[in-house]
Amino acid sequence: MKALQYREIGAAPEVVEVPTPEPRPGEVLLKVTAAGVCHSDIAVMSWPAEGFPYKLPLTLGHEGAGTVAALGDGVAGVEIGEPVAVYGPWGCGRCIKCAAGAENYCERAAELGINPPGLGAPGAIAEYLVVDDARHLVPLGGLDPVQTVPLTDAGLTPYHAVKRSLPKLGPGSTAVVIGTGGLGHVAVQLLRALTAAKVVALDVTEEKLDLARKVGAHEAVLSDAEAAGRVRELTGGIGAQAVFDFVGAGPTVATAGACAAVEADVTIVGIGGGTLPVGFGALPFEVSVKAPYWGTREELIEVFDLARDGFIDVHVETFSLDEAPEAYERLHAGRINGRAVILP
Ligand code: NAD
Ligand code: ZN
Ligand code: ZN
Repeated sequence: MKALQYREIGAAPEVVEVPTPEPRPGEVLLKVTAAGVCHSDIAVMSWPAEGFPYKLPLTLGHEGAGTVAALGDGVAGVEIGEPVAVYGPWGCGRCIKCAAGAENYCERAAELGINPPGLGAPGAIAEYLVVDDARHLVPLGGLDPVQTVPLTDAGLTPYHAVKRSLPKLGPGSTAVVIGTGGLGHVAVQLLRALTAAKVVALDVTEEKLDLARKVGAHEAVLSDAEAAGRVRELTGGIGAQAVFDFVGAGPTVATAGACAAVEADVTIVGIGGGTLPVGFGALPFEVSVKAPYWGTREELIEVFDLARDGFIDVHVETFSLDEAPEAYERLHAGRINGRAVILP
């Protein structure tokens, strides 16, 4: 089968021919119908050889959807031909976090060598994908795989982040979304669907700001050194009750902190390497700062329910598997509006 692989540190990913996998006992083989392209892969491909956490070559893609093609011995409750999406942050299934559906925070994944598809295990940008356990499959139930596959990360991750701040986003409040790309343009929609907050979007190009407006941002502001001042103006000097940074670089986390109101939540989702000093006087009183990772199985089902009920609509640009390297190039250059989805 064809697969998109990251083969050599620092090199661009390549479409190569690899053996079609067979499911071992307990595993499920999917014929991939759609796979999303996340900016985290670009971060992974920028890491140096020293300390690189995964074995190469690595088939990329941690957002996957497909139809069930074959079942390993002992797998029950899944039908051949069933359309499903993959919950990506695989855990052990047995620890207290996994028992609560929070496999993203599995206590034993590292020790047991369990990795998400595309982030250690072979990923979804291929004709076939092996899923380690049927519990990691969520039925699509009528949802379109192409529109829905980004929700497994670009929907689930912002949903997890937004959910924790819902109590702070009552009437009259403001939420700031920094970086309205794949994750951020879904975050805007989630905030509009779930809260009464005024949503202020920050990005660096007019095209991205247009998308932010189109998906429901009340205000769209150029992300520069003046952006935090603009947010203060828009909030009568008070600041935002919740700030979500989907870039996470030095300048954006600084903006995030500078936008925060007293008792605000600042959530750093982007992995751009920026850090925000916390300490008395460094931020407004009682601001809490978190850097979450992905989301829970329960939350993924909730995100699919929101999509089914028409509250979220991912802006998708599609590519064939042969065009997948170009999708990564364009994402790297900031030239994907919404989410790139590969159709193997
Ligand atoms: P993306 O490239 O689709 O979107 C990033 C957006 O940020 C783009 O619209 C870009 O124009 C904008 N941007 C760049 N510099 C900016 C700046 N200085 N100010 C404002 N906007 C700026 O990326 P994505 O796939 O949505 O991922 C977003 C980030 O989240 C990445 O860092 C990714 O690695 C990370 N991520 C984290 C998790 C997690 O669990 N914590 C999960 C998925 C992705
Ligand atoms: Zn991702
Ligand atoms: Zn676990």
